[in-house]
Formats: sequence, C-alpha cells, structure tokens
Amino acid sequence: MIIRYYQPMRMPLGEDGKLALDFVSTIRHDGAGGVTDDFAEDRDVARWVRDRWPEWAPDTSTTLPRRMRGLRRAARALFARAVRPMPPSRPDASHLMPEAEAIHVLNEAIADLSLDIAVEAGGASLLTVRSTASADAEVLIRGAVALAVVDFLAGPHVTKLRSCQAPRCVRYFVQRHGRQEWCKESCGNRARAARHRARSR
Ligand SMILES: [Zn+2]
Repeated sequence: MIIRYYQPMRMPLGEDGKLALDFVSTIRHDGAGGVTDDFAEDRDVARWVRDRWPEWAPDTSTTLPRRMRGLRRAARALFARAVRPMPPSRPDASHLMPEAEAIHVLNEAIADLSLDIAVEAGGASLLTVRSTASADAEVLIRGAVALAVVDFLAGPHVTKLRSCQAPRCVRYFVQRHGRQEWCKESCGNRARAARHRARSR
C-alpha cells in the first residue's frame, strides 16, 4: 500500500488531545450497560481510519488492524498512568500493558516515520515542524496516531485528563473546569442518583 507524495508531509500536532481521546474512546459504553469495541473487526479499524484520513485508504489485508489494536492498548495503558491516583477506565483496568512496553510501541510507530524536524517562525514564537517522506499508508496512520498520543500525554492539557467513574461510563475526558468530575451531564446525573440510592439504603 504505497502512496506517492511530491513533498514531505507535515505531521499535525496533537497537543489538544482530540485525536488521542478519539482513538482511546474506540472502547466505549454501548448504551445498554455494556462495553463495545469499535475495532472488533478488521473492517471496523479500516472504517475508523477511512473516516479520518480518506486519502490514506487502508488495505485491511495488511497488518494495520492488529497493529492499531496494539497501539491502542499502549495508549490506554499510558492514559491509565496519566490519571493516577484516579482509577483507570474500567474495561481494561485489570490487564493494562506494562508501561515500558507501551512506550516501546509508541516509539516504534514514531521511528517508522523517520521524521525530519525543523523550526519555523510562527508569529511571536517558534513552531516545530515534523515531516515525513514516508509513502506507506500504514506507517503514516500508525505514526499520526502515536504522535497525537505522545503530543497530548507530554503536553500541557494532560494534567486535566480524567477517567469518568460514573456508573457504566468508561470514558477518558479532559476537564473543562477544575471541579468537573464527570465526562458529561448525563453521567453526573447517573452518579448522583447512584449515590442517593446508596445513601437511602
Ligand atoms: Zn462519563
């Protein structure tokens, strides 16, 4: 699966956590009390990638689905570490990838990009520009996701990362204000109702 680019491609910055959260949230609440995996089938992984990077049209016969699941295990293990001392998201809390292995998986995906790093003027400050001449869609996809995870976990917003501990919720989220305990209003309502039931028992 080779794509030709006429010039090195810039890799986006993932500091805001959008792509990283989107990626780890492919394990999510199914709306009926259980957990669903958006990467369950190889074609599901292909669809997730195609929805985000139509130009990279992944080929499901490659190792991409398996490696994306591995990358996700690594990302979720490092998310779990980042929310400490809060508990991790529940579905994989008991079988998290060891930290050193998770970092190795991310490093491997980033190394495959053979990044060129340069500095450019960006208004009053400087910008770090990372580009790759790789033409392999699998390398680009894994690399883009791994960079997004690292940008976020090494960036300024990681201190606001939380795991939602409302009943049934399995989401990681970034707090919008300091006292936000739940990923969304409906989770807060559910959690308050559960506390109320526990108290009145
Ligand atoms: Zn929630």
